[in-house]
Amino acid sequence: MRSDSTVQIALVLPDLLGTYGDFGNAVVLQKRLAWRGIPAEIVPINFGQAVPESCDIYVVGGGEDTAQTLAVKHLQDNPGLQHAVRRGATVLGVCAGIQLFGDHFTRADGVTRPGLGLIDSTSHAGPNRAIGEVLAKPLGGLFDGVLTGFENHQGRTTLGPAARPLAQVTVGTGNDGKVEGAVQGKIVCTYLHGPVLPRNPQLADLLIEWATGTKPAPLDLPILDQLRAERVKAAQRTTDASSRG
Ligand code: GLN
Repeated sequence: MRSDSTVQIALVLPDLLGTYGDFGNAVVLQKRLAWRGIPAEIVPINFGQAVPESCDIYVVGGGEDTAQTLAVKHLQDNPGLQHAVRRGATVLGVCAGIQLFGDHFTRADGVTRPGLGLIDSTSHAGPNRAIGEVLAKPLGGLFDGVLTGFENHQGRTTLGPAARPLAQVTVGTGNDGKVEGAVQGKIVCTYLHGPVLPRNPQLADLLIEWATGTKPAPLDLPILDQLRAERVKAAQRTTDASSRG
């Protein structure tokens, strides 16, 4: 955190990587910090702008293959995010995020591009687009409850030994039909949109804990619990319907 104790949340390339309202992840972090009396500001970094290395949390959203290719080039040319990771900043990468943080990714058109090398992973185009609701069971005791979200991606991701999966898939595809997302140091990646943090406040609080060094006080927001329960039920209904054929 900065000396004036305002948490800075970098919203990385929302003009390229912002499908399905992924900017909402930054809003949720800011709100959940503010509700605990911790000032926080969102720092949008658009295409063409330098990437500051001093922010506390970096939020990267999803995008189409072309946008993702432009984004990775921009982030290679402006390595503020990579410097921030070396310093121990907290990072959330969604969908295209998990792919471009890895060693390389192969797009749907067969072209392979180098990634940022921030996590031990590679991504390749899968046999079909994975589209729909996802439920997954968090692994490694990172947080309680089910992980819920929406996926729409062609890519599939294979993790190397330095990265561990975020969750085990029970409904949907995630990385490969078995596991979902990646965790390496203070980087969390997921295929889940929704956006993911409004739908999974426990993940938002984990990122806040990593960024501030303090476990955040619980928030009493029954409406969120109710919305989550509805989402989980809806995802469950999708699978029940498809398994009935
Ligand atoms: N372009 C990537 C894919 O299709 C990521 C998509 C996304 O971010 N939703 O796999």
